[in-house]
Amino acid sequence: SENHRIRTDSKSKSAFERAKRVIPGGVNSPVRAFKSVGLTPLVIERGEGSRITDIDGQTYIDYVLSWGPLIAGHAHPEVVEAIKRTAEKGTSFGAPTELETLMAELVCERVPSVEIVRMVNSGTEATMSALRLARGYTKRSKILKFEGSYHGHADSLLIKAGSGVATLGLPDSPGVPESVASHTLTVPYNDLASVKLAFERYGEEIAAIIVEPIAGNMGVVPPLPGFLSGLREVTSQYGSLLIFDEVMTGFRVHLNCAQGLYGVTPDLTCLGKVIGGGLPVGAYGGKREIMEHMAPVGPIYQAGTLSGNPLAMAAGYSTLKLMNESAYQLLERLSARLQAGLERNAAETGIPMTINRVGSMVCPFFTDKHVINYDVAKTANTERFRTVFRRLLDNGVNIAPSSFEGWFVSIVHSEADIDMTIEAHRSALSKL
Ligand code: PMP
Repeated sequence: SENHRIRTDSKSKSAFERAKRVIPGGVNSPVRAFKSVGLTPLVIERGEGSRITDIDGQTYIDYVLSWGPLIAGHAHPEVVEAIKRTAEKGTSFGAPTELETLMAELVCERVPSVEIVRMVNSGTEATMSALRLARGYTKRSKILKFEGSYHGHADSLLIKAGSGVATLGLPDSPGVPESVASHTLTVPYNDLASVKLAFERYGEEIAAIIVEPIAGNMGVVPPLPGFLSGLREVTSQYGSLLIFDEVMTGFRVHLNCAQGLYGVTPDLTCLGKVIGGGLPVGAYGGKREIMEHMAPVGPIYQAGTLSGNPLAMAAGYSTLKLMNESAYQLLERLSARLQAGLERNAAETGIPMTINRVGSMVCPFFTDKHVINYDVAKTANTERFRTVFRRLLDNGVNIAPSSFEGWFVSIVHSEADIDMTIEAHRSALSKL
């Protein structure tokens, strides 16, 4: 069953060399470069369903899914058809369209905290805009975030960030002025006592807590019981806003997002990834009374030439329409099967592992510790991760090239895909 796809003379390799001459590091987003796993990246030609194919003609079962958006898999016929039909009528107007309202109605219907919503073009724009709104609304400057959480690359949020920042081992980013960084407080994820201490000290100055309701950028770390409701209480007590960054979890873990799953309602919610169905989309929404502080109703400014873009709305809307109750049940079944298989492999090979999972976010950590925050996540064995990553790739399974990322399952992964993956993982763990 070993296919040995990794070669030194591949077309991917020469294409990447060519890219490096004209693109920094050969990539338009850092982790894609495979630096942390010591390989050159696959250069992708196409995707279909649960599979991607590189320019060497090698096919892989894909658990990256464009880092989360493709919950319906690659090139889903209904999504492609919606994009085509929309494109034929023009790609962008910078004027209101009915499609934007349809999309907004669907988001408001499904996301408990969202009474009203504004579309933007990325998750970064969503969190950046929500923070500006929180600061403008509360007339306070400080924000509180959690170590190892990633909320996009806005200045205020690149402090002790997860995702690629963690993968590349860059603690705080050069280029963020100290005066900006000083307004960002950080505490460990799942540590309500530290949150309370920070509020006792700075509570009257804190505009908002921004939190991934399930942390997904330090690997996958679910909230401990009482953590999210504790954040809700503290923020209400001090007149701060609670912002859920559901860019990754939104429509990924539940029809009503993580807030529906846990029954905690934030003031503002940031969305991205799945709501764009593979096109560039972000959104932020929440209580009408707060959101209407944004221009043109209120004085806080945020705008976008391509915001609400018809193609992006078409891709997102058709993706969300595919995601009904039974789609989430299917995802749960497939993902539970994957988790059980990975756990069986760990037990049978005697490799210490902990597999965290919420719905279709699955994360095998190379540690037997209970992973509840970034400090514990960092103790996972990265050498083992690199070896297993390479072996999985060699056996036709594509996962994110970082131990600080989970695996995403789509509704078009088959049971056979999952079983092949478990088999590939089993052989990857052997003789570690
Ligand atoms: N927030 C979270 C929770 C994310 O996972 C990400 C992206 N991985 C972002 C924000 C930023 O989104 P984007 O890359 O679309 O700017």
